[in-house]
Amino acid sequence: MKDAIKKIQMIMLLGFAFALVACDPSEETANETGTDPLNVVTTIAQIGEPLSVIGGDYIHVESLMGPSVDPHLYSPTQSDMSKIGDADLIIYNGLNLEANMVEVFDAISETKPVLAVGDAINEKDLLTDEEGSIDPHIWFDLDLWQEALDSAVEALKIYQPEYADYFEANKQEYFAELAEVKQEAEKLADIPTSQRILVTAHDAFGYFGRMHDMEVIGLQGLSTNSEIGISDINQTIAIIKEHQVPAIFVESSINPNAIEAVIAGAENEGISLKLGGQLYSDAMGEAGTEEGSYLGMYRHNIETIYHALSEGME
Ligand SMILES: [Zn+2]
Repeated sequence: MKDAIKKIQMIMLLGFAFALVACDPSEETANETGTDPLNVVTTIAQIGEPLSVIGGDYIHVESLMGPSVDPHLYSPTQSDMSKIGDADLIIYNGLNLEANMVEVFDAISETKPVLAVGDAINEKDLLTDEEGSIDPHIWFDLDLWQEALDSAVEALKIYQPEYADYFEANKQEYFAELAEVKQEAEKLADIPTSQRILVTAHDAFGYFGRMHDMEVIGLQGLSTNSEIGISDINQTIAIIKEHQVPAIFVESSINPNAIEAVIAGAENEGISLKLGGQLYSDAMGEAGTEEGSYLGMYRHNIETIYHALSEGME
């Protein structure tokens, strides 16, 4: 009888020990204070990656759109829906970039905080196309993106107020590095004016062109949901010929066919036109690489454009 009781006690103790292991707070929290990190879900990594730097251990960020994903055409998967369901805070670009996700975000905003960073930008600073559609690629204006990230950090402070000072300090540090990138971009002004023309697959670089005084030509419009016609290709070749543009660029999230067609067409007309390299437009590089960070991707684009277009410079 005594042995049986001992056995039961032993089993209970073991069970208690297991329960303790299962509830080990160090397993559930990444930070030292034992607070659960704020669970943040973003669409594009241009939002998520800087926030993971600024939020440190006090937030957990997941970006739904990985490398080479086209946000214009992206629809949420089943696993995205469960991540959105588990999130404490959802942050997206807005301005109709994530066209197929707006409905989901509108619905979920009834039950949890959802922020579109594009809404933080003053309307007068936004670019529009001939039809009046707003250009959503605001991360290519370093000043506007700083404002956008600032609004996202304010949201972190609201939902994780005990670390507001920590977020603010990290943000200031991050913005200092952003200012360095802005300075590095000044070299683009050394490209001869006539060659300062950026030809890419779609109109993602409008803000980049405005900021760095470059003319921008995209084979497709602001979104990628339209067809590219032969006339678009021929028109582009004519501009390249007129301005003696030395190189054009593919984008990591866009099929390179159209850009390759322009190069082949130019060759047929005896124009020497090079592929200047791959730019990161709507998607960043692999996480953990230089191009997998917002500032790294921006630096990559500056260097790639500078090298390809400054060719033949005195
Ligand atoms: Zn785009």
